[in-house]
Amino acid sequence: MVSTADMDLTELRRDLHAHPEVGWTEFRTTALLAEELDERGFDLHLGSDAVAPGERLGVPDDDTLTAAEERARDEGAPEEYLEEMDGITGVVAEKTYGDGSGPTVGIRVDIDALKRQEATDDDHRPAREGFVSTHDGEMHACGHDGHATIGLGLARELDESSGFDGTLKLFFQPAEEGGRGGLPMSRTEHLTDVDHLLAVHLGLGRETGTVIASYERPLANAKLDVTFEGEPAHAGGEPNAGRNALQAAATAIQNLYGIPRHADGVTRINVGEVYSPNAQNVISERATMRVEVRGRTAELNEYMLDRARSIIDGAATAHQVDVETSLYGKTTTFEADDDLVETVVDAASGADGVDEVVGRVDFGASEDASYLIREVQENGGTATYVGIGASNPAGHHTARFDIDEDSLPIGVDVLARTVRSL
Ligand SMILES: [Zn+2]
Repeated sequence: MVSTADMDLTELRRDLHAHPEVGWTEFRTTALLAEELDERGFDLHLGSDAVAPGERLGVPDDDTLTAAEERARDEGAPEEYLEEMDGITGVVAEKTYGDGSGPTVGIRVDIDALKRQEATDDDHRPAREGFVSTHDGEMHACGHDGHATIGLGLARELDESSGFDGTLKLFFQPAEEGGRGGLPMSRTEHLTDVDHLLAVHLGLGRETGTVIASYERPLANAKLDVTFEGEPAHAGGEPNAGRNALQAAATAIQNLYGIPRHADGVTRINVGEVYSPNAQNVISERATMRVEVRGRTAELNEYMLDRARSIIDGAATAHQVDVETSLYGKTTTFEADDDLVETVVDAASGADGVDEVVGRVDFGASEDASYLIREVQENGGTATYVGIGASNPAGHHTARFDIDEDSLPIGVDVLARTVRSL
């Protein structure tokens, strides 16, 4: 059995880095976090109590989930918590400090890895120093190993000397990549009483020592998985007997990029993958396609999603094939609250190792913490998304991504100071 109790922040981050788990398979990560939080007296919400199961997006098939859970068991995940999770990853943990008269503060950190191969040569520090991914084709290439570490680090820090008389709720969110875990976590009852929510991200091109009090206005995003089903035929012998799935995909692609720009603001469209393996003389019977749309607002994203769906359906009709479209992931947008941004600026300015604090910065990319943030705001609370510089030697999602581990105690300190000052 593995236990995180004796690991310092760097050791913990390296252990998680060596055992990356992609979205909805974070069994080992969740169980280890749950174990230490339990020992620290937190109330735990696991499994269908951590995320609304019916709202989960982009869930891998049962075989993949079972294999991932088995691997977690083999790699020392404590059985008790695996059982409580009942096949669903992620954990919400809460604890009241002092007399409990203060606010309820939520901290959201994501815990999933990416589907990609990590570099294994000596120029890459995790390889050189022995904590490179041991899972083929999976890698912590976005710093979520560090986010999970900061979340647990904050629990340790407040246990040491709380200086806080309220309730801390830690949201360890699964499946951020692809925008799959935020929505189901936001559809639990755990956010309704949160007065202030802080989401946190390491890196994002900033040097260690820089803190961004608010990344905001991410683009709303939706991802679609599309399958066209036609009828195969010999392309020379009897092409008229076929119904060409690949042709439908091609028609869709051409027209997707032609969705009109919108007067209300920025939109995006991209087709990232088309797959239909056939010999040259076969009319394709099946083609799959992965598409994403984005918009400056949730409404613009809906506009793109709606247009994309009708083009995909129209392409299927035009070529007399069937089509099935499923939502893989979805995020929305948000703006941070002034009061909370100011609180973070003040708190970060006094934190050890921080030499630059920036107020508000536009996000550019998309983020599914947006659903948690909006849920809190709609219930009258305030929220912001904090960036902690981590001097990344290579870009996010690349094979040589890494974080400067000095950013970990900075992240803990910034959050602890913010919590104490609320
Ligand atoms: Zn990320």
